[in-house]
Order: sequence, then structure tokens, then C-alpha cells
Amino acid sequence: MNKSNQHVAIIGAGIAGATLANKLLSAGYEVSIYEKSRGTGGRMASCRLEDNSADLGAPFLCPASDIFRQWLTQQPNVNEWTPSTYRFNGKHCKNQTHFIATPKQSSLTRELIQGANLYTSIRVGYLWPERNQAPYEEEQSRVLLRDEHGKALGHYDAAIVTVPAKQAAPLLEAVPRFVRQVEAATPTISWVLVIQISSVVPITAELIQGSHPLLLRCIKDSAKPKRVREENSDTWLIEATPKWSALNSDSDPKHVAEQLRSAFFAVLNRDFNTQPIITAERVHRWLYSRHTTAHLDQRLNVGYLWDANTKIGACGDWLELGDIEGAWFSANKLAEQVILQRELI
Ligand SMILES: Cc1cc2nc3c(=O)[nH]c(=O)nc-3n(C[C@H](O)[C@H](O)[C@H](O)COP(=O)(O)OP(=O)(O)OC[C@H]3O[C@@H](n4cnc5c(N)ncnc54)[C@H](O)[C@@H]3O)c2cc1C
Repeated sequence: MNKSNQHVAIIGAGIAGATLANKLLSAGYEVSIYEKSRGTGGRMASCRLEDNSADLGAPFLCPASDIFRQWLTQQPNVNEWTPSTYRFNGKHCKNQTHFIATPKQSSLTRELIQGANLYTSIRVGYLWPERNQAPYEEEQSRVLLRDEHGKALGHYDAAIVTVPAKQAAPLLEAVPRFVRQVEAATPTISWVLVIQISSVVPITAELIQGSHPLLLRCIKDSAKPKRVREENSDTWLIEATPKWSALNSDSDPKHVAEQLRSAFFAVLNRDFNTQPIITAERVHRWLYSRHTTAHLDQRLNVGYLWDANTKIGACGDWLELGDIEGAWFSANKLAEQVILQRELI
């Protein structure tokens, strides 16, 4: 069946939105994506740091299932990375292979949405079903989108929200039964600091993790394959633990940067006997870095939300597993549901 006359709006260009777009495009739908940021990636975003670019969100992908692993190996811009791994006490531990998108994490979403209309720097503020009935024409249900200032963005055959649970709540008000699922998702806060250091630090560690009162892990971003970087400089991502991040959620970013920097330097100095010089840094607070989905009612939860009457749906990490793999599964399941329903009409 030709579905090319169906136009779906997707709100959010993270891994869930991009995966969904990719599936719907392959099935012949027209897809328009609205993204509030300047680029794609969401919590897999990358940022600029002077002349380098660095991953600001999820630093890598660690597939738990064979199906996700297999899908990752089929993506043209995804590579394996086996960082030399140490504990915070300086001891070497077993290296594990991860997957990363190249040349930066956000490249994966960019690639997946090829063929969709992408509207960036637009925050969708309103989404509501409307029934149009032109004289002598069949009644149609279409979804109206408006931006945060009330400006109409258009009518679509379906609209799918792929943003974090808290941000999804106001956009899903048209379907009251969705509220329970939205409220069941608990977000985690993460403070991160990205630093660029002038000289290459003479240590072999590329990932430092383990038990630490403040640090969750430190990742040498510039060691990832196919990263474009200035010579004689390294880039590190320092991620605070969820507990410390929650306790410091309202702290001054300058103070947070200072704390993370000195904790990282203490590790380098004590365990690796080195003291680098910072040339650029950026601190960022992720209010919804991951989601705990344990409270979801498993009898009701199918991994996505879809209302066949209004043609409004939602997918994302908060509806399945709370991480990248969950977001990917959620988007795949919803895409199948949307495509199946169209075929049944
Ligand atoms: C620091 C950090 C480390 C992490 N580490 C890991 C890890 O090691 N492994 C792992 O599996 N996961 C990790 N995660 C979690 C993982 O990144 C997320 O679970 C996953 O990326 C979520 O994808 P998503 O598409 O569901 O949502 P998102 O990536 O959040 O995408 C939603 C998009 O919607 C946009 N948006 C929001 N509101 C609106 C609106 N009103 N209008 C338009 N656009 C809007 C946002 O800007 C965003 O781009 C990490 C996250 C962070 C922040």
C-alpha cells in the first residue's frame, strides 16, 4: 500500500525520534521533525570546545541485546571502541568493547533522519487533535502543532512525542490515559564537565571508572576512533555520579566545574602522577540524563504510547529500559504499530 500521502510530525531528534523517522521514511511516510536545540542527538549530543568537538551526553553505546548490537554493526558511521580502562584507584581493569558514532555521537541521528524535513531551534508547545470535515469530504482527524509562542506549525496525520517524560507531559494532555505512564518515569540528574587540555597527558587510561564519591567516570573523548582533534591536545568528559549530581542540582555551574575538575586532577595526580593544563572547558547539567522505569505498570506498558483515535503517540527511553537501547526499542515498536495500523485501514 502506498502511504506516501501520510505526513507524520515527530517532536525531538534524539535516538528515539531519529530511529522512528528512519523506519517511517523507509515505509513511505513523509516525516517532519521539530527539535528545540540547534542540532540533533538529544542526550547523545556533541558540543564544540574551541577547535575540537566533544560528546556532551552519552559517551558510547553498550548493547545488551544481540538485535541492537547487530543493528549497530550495520550502521555506516558506527565504530567499535575498546578503551584502555582503569579504576579510580589506579588499577587496570578488563577492557570492554563499546560502540561509538563517528566523527561524533550526534552523527548517528543525523544519518538516520536523511530524507526527513528537520526544523531546528523550534520548541513545540502545543499538540491537539482536530477533526476537519470539508463539505462532501470524509471526516479526517489531524493533529495541530504550535510552537511555544502559539505560532501554528501545521496539521499532521499523526504526531509523535519523543522527548523526556517531564517535557512530554504537557504535549500529551490530549490523551489523559497517557498521564499515568508519564508520571511513572523518574529522571536522573547528571552534571558533566568537558575539558580540553593543552598537552597530551602521558597516561594510557582512556576510561576511568569505579567507586568514587563524586565521579561516575572520566572518558578520554579524543581517544575515540575518527575524532577530529587539534594536535597536542586531549579532550575528556568527566561525569558526576547521579547521587552527587542530585545533591548539587541547584549549585552554581562554576562551583560544579571546580569540584569536578579538582576531583579529576586528584585522580590523575595521585594515581597517574600527572597534572594537565586546561585550555577550554564546558559544564552542563542534564536534568533528565536517564530514566528509571521500574515503576511502570508492566501489564500496561508495551514500550510506547499510541492512541489510534487522535493519532498521537510517544516513544523514548522513559517507556523502555531508560537508556539508549530502550529508546531504540521503543521507537522500533511504535513505528511497527503505526505502520500496521495504516495497513489495516
Ligand atoms: C551524560 C549522559 C550519559 C549517559 N550515558 C549513557 C550510557 O552510557 N548508556 C546508555 O544507554 N545511555 C546513557 N545515557 C542516556 C541516553 O543518552 C538516553 O537514554 C537516550 O539518549 C535518550 O534518547 P531519546 O531519544 O529517548 O531522548 P533525547 O535524546 O532526550 O531526545 C529528545 C529530544 O527532544 C528535544 N525536545 C525536548 N522537548 C522538545 C520540545 N518541546 N520541542 C521540540 N524538541 C524538544 C530535545 O532537545 C532532544 O533532542 C546518558 C545520558 C547522559 C545525559
